[in-house]
Amino acid sequence: MPVHVITHPVAQDLLTQLRDARTTSPAFRQAAQRLSVLIATEAMRDLPTEPVVVATPLGPADGTRVNADVVVVPVLRAGLGMLEAVLSVTPHARVGHIGLQRDETTAVASQYYAKFPSGLEKSFVVLVDPMLATGGSAVASLDLLAERGARAVRLLCIVAAPEGIKEVEAHYPDVQIYTPAVDSHLNAHKFIVPGLGDFGDRLYGTL
Ligand code: URA
Repeated sequence: MPVHVITHPVAQDLLTQLRDARTTSPAFRQAAQRLSVLIATEAMRDLPTEPVVVATPLGPADGTRVNADVVVVPVLRAGLGMLEAVLSVTPHARVGHIGLQRDETTAVASQYYAKFPSGLEKSFVVLVDPMLATGGSAVASLDLLAERGARAVRLLCIVAAPEGIKEVEAHYPDVQIYTPAVDSHLNAHKFIVPGLGDFGDRLYGTL
């Protein structure tokens, strides 16, 4: 299964803060940012690099420089809660956006916005969607990216449900998923259990 579970104790501590229903929006935002840095760092472990030589104050040193066109694509609106953190790991990344609205009753995602940088076929694409629930929005986003030629796509999320992982795997077996948690199941409203509730609402205080 192409799922990378981030078990680092700092990541698990931050995830626990996010899960805690008593965590306020400002604290939730901060924990989401910090956790996203850890997830992004792991997801970029195999970024292409090139050898370089730099001059330290004491002489030349062999070094390594990232040599990749990284494109980060947050799924609006919850994905925005992870964007700045991912950009802090790869400051030169370009950014695309996908707007998907989840129908409250059917949980089916419909697209209202999509804008991407050009040349995705050569880019290292990082799709950012915090809650991998049914997998509907992830697969819809991956469809949009595939239509534009994106090949090396990673999906970063904060909590994944087995149902969502299965759905992504069925449509895109090569997509690597990075998450600190694979939870138990979805409830009747397609929320992840135990999950952390509605990520966007908790992030922006719109509960
Ligand atoms: N979206 C959320 O914000 N939370 C869930 O549990 C599922 C989808």
